[in-house]
Parts: sequence; structure tokens; C-alpha cells
Amino acid sequence: MRWVAAFAIGLLALGAVVKVSVAQAPPVPPLVKPGFTTKIAENVYVIPDHDVRLVPNIGILVGQNGILVVDTGMGPKNAETVLGEVRKISNKPILYLAITHMHPEHGMGAQSFPSETKVIYAEAQKKELADKAERFIKFFSGFSPQIAELLKPVRIVQPTETFQSEARLNLGGFPVQLLHFGASHTRGDTLIYLPEQGIIFAGDVVVNGWFPIMPDNDSSGKNWIATLEKLKGMKLKTVVPGHGPVGQPTMIDPLQTYLTTLRSEVTTLQKQGKSQEEVVSALTPVFKERYGTWKDNQWLKNAIGRFYAEATM
Ligand SMILES: [Zn+2]
Repeated sequence: MRWVAAFAIGLLALGAVVKVSVAQAPPVPPLVKPGFTTKIAENVYVIPDHDVRLVPNIGILVGQNGILVVDTGMGPKNAETVLGEVRKISNKPILYLAITHMHPEHGMGAQSFPSETKVIYAEAQKKELADKAERFIKFFSGFSPQIAELLKPVRIVQPTETFQSEARLNLGGFPVQLLHFGASHTRGDTLIYLPEQGIIFAGDVVVNGWFPIMPDNDSSGKNWIATLEKLKGMKLKTVVPGHGPVGQPTMIDPLQTYLTTLRSEVTTLQKQGKSQEEVVSALTPVFKERYGTWKDNQWLKNAIGRFYAEATM
């Protein structure tokens, strides 16, 4: 029931944004752009998101034995573009597909991958996909007719392998780790870590220039803050965020500051006896102003709601 309420709030918030963006400019369709794949280190490539809403940064890791792809883009049409980009780099077999979380733009193109590709999920993500895939397809399809079109042919692909908190993959030449630190943005967030290169594909646990999103009650603000602290202890050189430009690990700091200050300001007002609605009204303009350059500020309301709920848990 609480999930349904949060979902309704999310829908309302998104409805408001769609109205605003329709009045200003038509939304950019969430298509992965071919021809811009960038080598960020030896054997490591990123298809950049170009800061387009609902296009993720996608990873291509090429080992001696084969390839790992990180995320698919939304729907089979985008996944076909991703596969085209992979084939421009290498003809080696695509051994693995890792999906950072079950949201449609990250994982719902898996059906286009070759049947021999192993799809690796955190166990928590597998459960979340089973619980919520259909609802998220409906939810996202309501955003625009183009998105509905992209999602229409989606078939849910079950993972071939799952892990609890860590998996190690052998692509040949360099180690790859899949890490699940518990719920942050979603229940099943998975990060792909290359310890030798100091690179992490963080999914939406790290976004650069976008508000971090807590879409429903499966998000955990508390664990998100703790996870960012762990990332800061990992001696990273490069962070590939779920959305926004690839860059140095210093991009984690403003995100962590945002989450910790929002939490503390929510808690302070809550202790003064303010209702959740009052806290939302008081803090939304303050944080919109403070993070004026970040995109998707309609999600502030959900984040305040999560921290409000977590303080009483
Ligand atoms: Zn997401």
C-alpha cells in the first residue's frame, strides 16, 4: 500500500514535468546514439548518454576471452544499437550482460542479446524484476508515445546466473567484480568494478548532474549514503555514472552532501513536529535553489518522503 502511494506521487511528479516540458520543447526520445562510443581505458568503452533523460551510460568491456556489456538501453531497438557499437569494437563473443538495476532504460533490452550471453543479476535484483517489471513498463509507457513504442516489444529476460553480494567474472586479462551493497536507488543496485583500472560503473547509485532518484519505498537513503562512503574508500580513478558525464570520483561528493544534508534537514523539521507535507513544502524550494544546475528536480519530493519515513523506522 505504501508502495502504491509512493508510486502515485511519482506519477504525479512526472505528470507535472511532462506538462512543463511539452509547453517548452518536445521531449528528446530516449535513443542510444551510435557513433560516439568512447574508449575510457584500455579495453574499456562507454556509449555516452549525451545527458538525454532515460538514456543510460552503457559499458563495453573487452577481455581476451570475450565481452561484458553493462546495461542495454530501453527496449530492443536501443539494445540493437548497443550491439552494433559492440561489433564496431570487437567480434569476440559477448559472454556476459550485467544490468545495474531493473529500470526499463537499464535492462529492458536484454532479449536482443545472443542466446549464449549470460545475464548476471544480484539475487535482490532478480526478485525486484519479478515483482515490478510489469508495473514499470506501464509506468514508463505513460511518459510518452515514443517510450510506449520502445517498450511494446519488451520480453522480460530472467538472469542466467545470480549472486548475493559479489561475483567475479573472467573475461581474460583483467578482473571484473559485480558488487551489490544493498538497496540505494533500487533494491537490487549492482555496480561493476574494475579494480586494476580503478573504474566503476555505478548505475544510478551515482548520477552526475541529475538529482538522485528514490522512485519508491524500495529505495534506501540511509544505505545509499553508506554505499557512497564505501565507494569513496575504493581508490577509484574513474566513475561511470548511470546518467551524466563520466568523470573523476569527486562527482560522488556533491551527491553525498545532498543526501546527508537533505536527511538532516528533514529530520530536524520532523522533530519539530512538522508533517511530511509541511517538510516537502519547506525544503523543496531550498534544495531546488541549492542544486539549481541538477536535472529532474521533481524527484525531490520522493527523496524527502523517503527520509521522513526512514527516520521513523
Ligand atoms: Zn534507475
